[in-house]
Amino acid sequence: MRRINYILLLLLLFMGMTTFLYQVREEREQQYLSHTATLLNTTYQASLERYAMAMDTIFTSVRRHPEAIPLFLKGMQSPEPEQAELRQQLYKLLQPQFRDLIVRGIRQWQFHRRDGSSYLRMHAPAAFDDNLLSVRPSLQMLQTQPIQRYGFEAGRLFIGFRFIHPLFRQGALVGSMENGVSFRELSQDLAKLAPDQAFLFLLKRNTVESILFSDTRQYFQSSPLSNDYLLDQRSLADIQNAPLPLQALQQQMIAASLDHELAQGEPFSLALFHQNLGYSATFIPVLNFAQETDGYILALHSAPILTSIQWDFYRSTGISLVVICLLGWLVLNLLRQRQLTQSQAQRLDSIGQAVGEGIYVLDPQGRTLYVNEAATRLTGFNADKLMQGNLHNLLHSHENNAQLTLSECPIFVTALNGGTYEADEQFRTRTGELIPVVVTSRPLMEEGQVTGVVTVFRDISERKEHERRLEELATTDPLTGLSNRRAFLERLSEELQLIHRLQHASTLLMIDFDHFKAINDRYGHHAGDQVLKHFAQIARDCLRQTDMLGRMGGEEFSILLPGTNLDGAAHLAEMLRERMETSPTSLDGGEIAMTLSIGLTALTTHDHSPSDVLNRADKALYQAKEQGRNQVVSS
Ligand code: GH3
Ligand code: MG
Ligand code: MG
Repeated sequence: MRRINYILLLLLLFMGMTTFLYQVREEREQQYLSHTATLLNTTYQASLERYAMAMDTIFTSVRRHPEAIPLFLKGMQSPEPEQAELRQQLYKLLQPQFRDLIVRGIRQWQFHRRDGSSYLRMHAPAAFDDNLLSVRPSLQMLQTQPIQRYGFEAGRLFIGFRFIHPLFRQGALVGSMENGVSFRELSQDLAKLAPDQAFLFLLKRNTVESILFSDTRQYFQSSPLSNDYLLDQRSLADIQNAPLPLQALQQQMIAASLDHELAQGEPFSLALFHQNLGYSATFIPVLNFAQETDGYILALHSAPILTSIQWDFYRSTGISLVVICLLGWLVLNLLRQRQLTQSQAQRLDSIGQAVGEGIYVLDPQGRTLYVNEAATRLTGFNADKLMQGNLHNLLHSHENNAQLTLSECPIFVTALNGGTYEADEQFRTRTGELIPVVVTSRPLMEEGQVTGVVTVFRDISERKEHERRLEELATTDPLTGLSNRRAFLERLSEELQLIHRLQHASTLLMIDFDHFKAINDRYGHHAGDQVLKHFAQIARDCLRQTDMLGRMGGEEFSILLPGTNLDGAAHLAEMLRERMETSPTSLDGGEIAMTLSIGLTALTTHDHSPSDVLNRADKALYQAKEQGRNQVVSS
């Protein structure tokens, strides 16, 4: 794979990792946010319940008061000015209780008639008789279903949470009592239950716009979060001192475009960040008496958990980036190393294949690591066979010790021990033929360790043949094919040594042609050569395998008869002489007769050099010549 692909792969890996980490972060955030939303919603409900219980207590105490309800009923049934007097009495009667309520943050206390008109406002005793039925759904519901209820409701002067209790007389609804808690009071209560939260109040534009008096409406201004909602400016003023970056948080909430979420009427939370610090914005739906969402309590809160979740994400992303970079660096390095090794191996292989010598490399266990083309060509085995087979068993044929194991093989072991081995050996080819090779093996060194053995071998058949022919030329007489003087003297010398050791009988014959010069003169030099060859043939026929016939020069020959005593030798010499005499050389239709003179002598332990023996034989020969030629003389 190309490097760019690896980089793309790593990039993809990083992106995958980041996506995963981001999902983890989102999940953790969502968990925290939904927990926060549930907690705040529960707190809000608990707070309302607490107020509801307080209102129940007030209602019960009023209902049980011996004078309060009769005063209320009587007042409602009395004409003016008596009614005003009775209203005043009720007001005074409940005044101490109302003061207690104010202390507890409950500022609204009102009595309604059966028809929904106001009878007495404890918080505004001068305002009464106005009919609220048309603008107050809570009172409308009471007409049809007279049970105690609470909920959010916007009135003409007061918007907030109202708690309504129906009043019965002899089973019939006669009126109702209502207490109210403003958002401000509720938010103060909430702040006690959920400290560090700053509360804002959002009201649905269309539910309140038609009801509120203009002086109250001034507090409600369009919320930048949504067109459908108005923001209670008083709640905003209340939290101005809270340690929150309100402006920045508002910008983020605007950017989040919350219209859809706000339309759901469910509690929800948002994660907001400013200068890498986390904040939560929780929206708690505020339900009216018809259980519809009329607005939201927005709780803002600094959320260190969100900050730490964010930092966890940054940290994990950073760590994964470092790990992936490291991984990438390692992989790229490894790739580069592999490429380098590959190109080095290719280069070495090219060199190995280019040379004429066979090369193979074995590991320390003798397994083949490499063979070149020349090795296959020289041995006849294919590369697979050489790679898989045991080369020592396959090729090596140690001349004197064919049974050597690999651990005894000098070609392998010498190099494995760090040395260099160089020698002429014989290698077996695929056909079983043995070829002479010159082998050099050296250790394969890697980081100072012997990791194998490199063996180079060359077929030296031609050299051997050349040497053999040189040797032959040096020891053979070209005309007759017999040993020349040098070779003969060497053999004679060896025989003398044997005699000294074994003391057996051996004899030397010295032969000279009679009047050979005349043959040359008469028939020509070529004819003389033919006579010489003719003699060589006759002599060969008479001799045993162990006998040695040599041409000593010109028309002089010598025969060494190892293991033959003087008598036996004389017999042979006589036979030779006679054969030559009776077997003329045939040439160009004619015949050339020829006789020999032969001197012979036995080799003795007194002879120290070939010349000692030769001199004696020469003397005998001379004697044969002297005595008339064509005869055998022993000395
Ligand atoms: P003798 O009986 O006394 O030995 O007489 P001879 O003529 O053989 O005398 P000698 O041995 O001295 O002469 C040898 C001659 O052999 C001399 C030379 O011309 C001849 N001769 C030597 N070498 C060769 C050879 O290779 N071929 C031929 N054709 N003649 C040779
Ligand atoms: Mg001669
Ligand atoms: Mg002669």
